[in-house]
Amino acid sequence: MRYGVRSSQDVLDEFFSDPRLKATLGAYWPYLGLPLDELPFVELGPMFFLYAHYKPYHIRGGSQAMSNALLQSFLEAGGEVQFNTAAAKIHTDQGRVTGVTTEHGTRFNAASVVSNASSIHTFNELLDVETLEPQVRETFQHSRVGVSGFIVYLGLDVSPEELGITAASNFICSDLDDRAVFDTANNLDDPAGCLLTCYNYDDPTFAPEGKSVIGLMCAQYGKVWEDIPQEAYFDTKYEFAQRLIRLAERVYPGIQAHIEEVEVATPLTVMRYLNTPGGAIYGFDQNALETPVFRQRLKGPEGLYLAGAWTGPGGFQPTYMSGHAAANTVVRHHRTNLAAE
Ligand SMILES: Cc1cc2nc3c(=O)[nH]c(=O)nc-3n(C[C@H](O)[C@H](O)[C@H](O)COP(=O)(O)OP(=O)(O)OC[C@H]3O[C@@H](n4cnc5c(N)ncnc54)[C@H](O)[C@@H]3O)c2cc1C
Repeated sequence: MRYGVRSSQDVLDEFFSDPRLKATLGAYWPYLGLPLDELPFVELGPMFFLYAHYKPYHIRGGSQAMSNALLQSFLEAGGEVQFNTAAAKIHTDQGRVTGVTTEHGTRFNAASVVSNASSIHTFNELLDVETLEPQVRETFQHSRVGVSGFIVYLGLDVSPEELGITAASNFICSDLDDRAVFDTANNLDDPAGCLLTCYNYDDPTFAPEGKSVIGLMCAQYGKVWEDIPQEAYFDTKYEFAQRLIRLAERVYPGIQAHIEEVEVATPLTVMRYLNTPGGAIYGFDQNALETPVFRQRLKGPEGLYLAGAWTGPGGFQPTYMSGHAAANTVVRHHRTNLAAE
């Protein structure tokens, strides 16, 4: 509780003086989507502990392998899944959830609905109620939609060793000041920091021998890309990709010359796939007001459960845990209701 609402920068300043050491210890901030002076220590501290103590892992086959495994387990438990089918409406009656209608017009009756779509989409567009609870409106007023990402996926005709890569995950920055790095998320200037992930470093089967699969990612706010005129989008996207590659080349020279395949995703791409405002990937900005100290559970109609990045921190582990918690709550409520009947 002593460190609960203090910023990560403040806590690092208390214990360390060397700016390079502080930058190294705080290097995980991009995973949490905010620079150290705005990121509560209660978010950075546990992440640092978990990575230092238990070590971070890459899933063999990429994160899609985890999604496939979850899907398989759901099917084995008797679940039914519909792909390419958006929920269009969550129906309610007298403050209780009664079902969902899909974009194809099929209605499913249900006493419980779990949504891990953004809470903004869930409350403003999916729920059939006209008036939001005051508590929900207030949350949307003070919470800030978080950052999105610009990603360059590369297939290179060179091995990780030949490029000089010595780890699967690499944090690159051209400035030790993380606030200066973060500020480049608000414009199309040269990005000052990025993550370089080499997918076949830990799992050599991920790429043919002598080749590499790499992702470069930097933070970008969706607004920057929403403001680009349609006719300029294509050129802007590839020009910005060049800027990002140039940044990575400062540490790993020769990337450009070895490109065999390239695919680029902007915040608008992310928005199209995730259906989140601004293409946000971690939900709301996880500043002090979003910490567990202040965060309130959004009150919707009875039977509506929220899971995922819009209910707490983003990232795989926290969102899997929030899905698990939502599922447990649903089961508990059903058991209680059955017992009452
Ligand atoms: C490029 C990239 C790399 C990342 N790398 C990492 C990493 O290495 N480690 C890590 O921990 N985290 C990483 N993250 C972050 C992590 O992926 C997210 O924080 C996490 O997946 C969020 O989970 P979620 O359940 O909240 O939502 P999501 O996984 O975004 O799932 C929400 C789903 O709801 C769907 N949806 C939206 N509206 C509707 C609707 N009306 N009807 C039906 N479905 C709908 C969306 O299409 C989406 O599939 C990365 C994110 C990106 C974009």
